[in-house]
Amino acid sequence: MNYVLRASPTWLCGDELDVFDSVTKSALEAITNVKIDGITWAQASLPVSSGGLGIRRVAELATPAYLASVHATSSLVSAITTGTESYDLALQMWQAAAGAELPPEILRRTQKVWDKALVQKTVEVIKNTFSNDVTHCARLLAVEQPESGKWLNALPVPSLGTLMSDESFRVAVGLRIGAPICNPHLCIDCRLPVDEYGHHGLSCKNSAGRFIRHSSLNEVIRRSLVTANTPAVLEPRGTSDVNDRRPDGVSQLPWRNGRRLAWDVTCVDTVALSNVVSSSIKAGEAARKAEDEKRRKYEYMAHEYEFAPLAFETFGVSSPACMKFLRELGARLKNATGERRSFEFLLQRLSIEIQRGNALSVTSTVPRSDGLNAVYFVL
Ligand SMILES: [Zn+2]
Repeated sequence: MNYVLRASPTWLCGDELDVFDSVTKSALEAITNVKIDGITWAQASLPVSSGGLGIRRVAELATPAYLASVHATSSLVSAITTGTESYDLALQMWQAAAGAELPPEILRRTQKVWDKALVQKTVEVIKNTFSNDVTHCARLLAVEQPESGKWLNALPVPSLGTLMSDESFRVAVGLRIGAPICNPHLCIDCRLPVDEYGHHGLSCKNSAGRFIRHSSLNEVIRRSLVTANTPAVLEPRGTSDVNDRRPDGVSQLPWRNGRRLAWDVTCVDTVALSNVVSSSIKAGEAARKAEDEKRRKYEYMAHEYEFAPLAFETFGVSSPACMKFLRELGARLKNATGERRSFEFLLQRLSIEIQRGNALSVTSTVPRSDGLNAVYFVL
C-alpha cells in the first residue's frame, strides 16, 4: 500500500482512502475485540512512538508518501517530464491539513518528516478533546513515552515468552487508546464501582494482577542478570533489617565498585486517585515518587550494596533510575551475548509483563457469576 501511496496521487481519491481505512479499522476491532471509533481510532492510527498502535490510516499517509517520493525522484522525473501540477496540489493539501511550514529542503525526500507534521496535528486534536479530563491526560502523556509501547514492537514468539494472550492484548489495546473495555460493574473484591475503562482493577488493593506482575518482572530482571554473567537470587536471606524489610533480589557477584547489586521492583498505577493529578502534568511522576520511596526504604543497605529502585507504571512508564539501570543491564547483555538489540528486547519483555499484569488486574474485578457475555463486549 505504501508503494501505491508513494507512486500515485491517491490523495485525489479521498472517499476510496476512507473506505480502505474503515476496512482496516473494522479488522482491528474484530482482532482486538475493542470498540474503536472517533477519537480512539485517531489515536490507534498514530505511530507507536506517538502513543498509537502503529496501524496507520492511508488517508493521512497519502500526501506525506507522495510528496516525499516526488522529492526523492525529482531529478529523474524532471529529466522525463516538466509537469508539477500534481505536486503543487498535493502540497496545498498537505499544508491545509498540517498547518505547518515546509520541511527543510534537505529533508523533503523523507516520508517521516512530512508525516510527522500531520501526526503532531492529530496528537493535538486528541489532547484538546480530553483537556478537561485528568485521567485521559495522564494516559496520553504516559503512552507517548518510548518505553510504554514496547509490547507493540515485540515479535509474538511463545518460546520467548513474548506471545500475549488474546485477553491481555485486548485489555492492553483498550487501556492504551482509552477505549471502553468492559461494562460498568462493581469490583468483586472491594465492591467499588468499575467504569467502562476498567481502570479500577489497576489500583484495586486486592488486585490479582499486581502480585503476578511483581514476581514476573523480578524474574525477567533475575534471568537477564544471569545471562549478563551476574548470578542473582530473588528474596535473598540475610539482607533484611530490624523492620524485616528485604529487597526483591541481590546479585551474588559484585555489580559495580566491588559492591553487589540489590534491587526492588514496584509497579504503581498511573491513573490511581493518588497519582492521576501529577501524572496528568508530567509523565512518569508516579514512578518517580515510588522510586524515591524505595530509595528511602532501602537506605540501610546503601553502605554495602548498589541499590536499584525499579519503579514501573501500569501505563508503561519507568522511573529515571530504573531506565538507567535497564540501560546498563542492556549493555551488559549485549556484551555477553553479542546481540545488539539486547536493551530493546529487555524493554519488550518487561513491557509485556506489565500489560499481562494489567489484564489480569482488570479481569479479576469481574463478578464471576455474570459470565463473560454479561460484562465484556463480545463482537
Ligand atoms: Zn476492587
